[in-house]
Amino acid sequence: METIKELYQEVILDHNRNPRNFKKLANATHTAVGDNPLCGDHIDLFLVIDNEVIKDIGFTGKGCAISKSSASLMTSELKGKTIEQAKDIFNKFHDFITSESIEINTLDKFGKMIVFEGVKQFPIRIKCASLAWHTLISAIKNGDKITTTE
Ligand code: ZN
Repeated sequence: METIKELYQEVILDHNRNPRNFKKLANATHTAVGDNPLCGDHIDLFLVIDNEVIKDIGFTGKGCAISKSSASLMTSELKGKTIEQAKDIFNKFHDFITSESIEINTLDKFGKMIVFEGVKQFPIRIKCASLAWHTLISAIKNGDKITTTE
């Protein structure tokens, strides 16, 4: 029988192999670039936000399985959500991966992001798992300005 850990691992590998919403959005209203130099992860995030609602979201980039699957799961989770809901999920997810003691009944608030439970043991991996989320927050803050590292 599969353990929960193996199941989580499978979800991560699946999203790494077939990332959801892996596309540039030509009509993006909000964009941001995220880098995690410690691991070499890079993400370009694109959002179409209308009336405080995330109508569409996509990303491109390269990096490790954790960073890529995290971005894939995040984009699947956030489509159709409001900015407030997205920030709320980010806060809960961030608490979850950075704290040992979190109530199990708060976990359903961020759905499949629970598969990253394993990164808690590897502080360096927390940055990989949270890169997409930090990029999301900066995209929301930057408004319609395009951020580039050039
Ligand atoms: Zn990484």
